[in-house]
Amino acid sequence: MPRLLVIGAGTGGLMVANHVARALERELADGRVAITVLSDRDTYFYQPGLLYVPFDLMRPSELTRPVRSLLHRGIRFVHDRAERIDAAARRVQTRSGATLDYDFLVLATGSDVDVDSVPGLAAGGHWFYTLDGALRLREALRRFQGGRLVMAVGLPHKCPVAPLEFTFMFDEWTRRRGIRDKTEIVYTFPINRAHSIEAVGIWAAEEFERRGIQLETFFNLEEVDPDAREVRSLEGTSFRYDLLVAIPPHKGDRVHKESGLGEQGNWLPTDRHTLNLKDHPEIFVVGDATNLPVSKAGSVAHFEAEVVAENLINLLTGEPPSHLYDGKVFCFLEAGLDKATFIQFDYDHPPVVAPPTQAVHWFKQTYNRVHWLNLQAIV
Ligand SMILES: Cc1cc2nc3c(=O)[nH]c(=O)nc-3n(C[C@H](O)[C@H](O)[C@H](O)COP(=O)(O)OP(=O)(O)OC[C@H]3O[C@@H](n4cnc5c(N)ncnc54)[C@H](O)[C@@H]3O)c2cc1C
Repeated sequence: MPRLLVIGAGTGGLMVANHVARALERELADGRVAITVLSDRDTYFYQPGLLYVPFDLMRPSELTRPVRSLLHRGIRFVHDRAERIDAAARRVQTRSGATLDYDFLVLATGSDVDVDSVPGLAAGGHWFYTLDGALRLREALRRFQGGRLVMAVGLPHKCPVAPLEFTFMFDEWTRRRGIRDKTEIVYTFPINRAHSIEAVGIWAAEEFERRGIQLETFFNLEEVDPDAREVRSLEGTSFRYDLLVAIPPHKGDRVHKESGLGEQGNWLPTDRHTLNLKDHPEIFVVGDATNLPVSKAGSVAHFEAEVVAENLINLLTGEPPSHLYDGKVFCFLEAGLDKATFIQFDYDHPPVVAPPTQAVHWFKQTYNRVHWLNLQAIV
């Protein structure tokens, strides 16, 4: 009986597992296939909702669901942490001491902020990429009466447009509160433009100009001095701030490196089309954990999950894999509190940024409330 093991019950892991389970319902019921999901959290967390928490536009209770409630009934769920992946023996060792053997493995372990990689940031700055961080920032915004906001973006990070979204939402939030004239906004970015994707960078720079937001390029976040309330770059520039919101650089899970599978940053070397881990046709990588030059986004995890699930269905039933990933990315982009746009691109087609509309904003709001169905659609 072929055994599929999925590590990570986030967006990518849930989608792969549910998609395969639905297609192989009969095989699962007859014991001809086994699917196990292993995750160190038994609660699924809808991370895109964190953008709204500082502005009091979404509550934490709206963002979570028990993992079990989102999984197909035929899937076994193990709440434990993968501590070591022995790819030669096709075996995973967990924190509690259990071992899980597999024939096919999916690594969907995501990515996380590395706050400590920027000295002083934990003490002197804010971020909204974790629930604790978003709630602390909500408190800071409740106290904010004007002054200089510095949004300092580190790379790499997931959701490539979230720092821009926060900045545009903050701009409008201060206008609505009547404190925009007492507020200065500075946006820093590590390279020579406002965003790694050129079309987004050009569009954002125009928006910054129109809204009176200062753009500082070539600003690689080096350290924060909480006493002086100053953020400094590797390039030797610095800004005093009243409120610092940073996007800390991200890293992949340490189990990759510790198992001899990960590269620098714990990212997994992944084939850009088959999504196989390098030299391992029995291991697939989905979502943020890849080293691919595509955005780390839930939509990417979704598109990759479809490809990997279809190939796993083939492999688990003795057929060769047949699907390839084309680099597809889709991101909504809030351009304030009531308008949004979106970008869509793939390996061969760069994005175009359309003018923001209310309709796209409401589409995103609706998706925020129903995305559970997307994870489960396949149950
Ligand atoms: C503020 C914010 C806004 C965002 N907005 C958007 C947006 O608008 N659109 C969009 O598409 N994306 C957005 N994203 C990004 C999106 O949430 C992620 O890209 C997506 O969740 C990645 O899916 P994943 O399956 O790779 O990882 P995750 O969903 O993070 O899941 C990884 C899972 O693996 C588990 N895990 C990790 N290591 C181990 C281990 N060793 N053993 C067991 N379990 C393990 C983790 O606990 C976690 O449950 C946003 C993210 C943030 C933080």
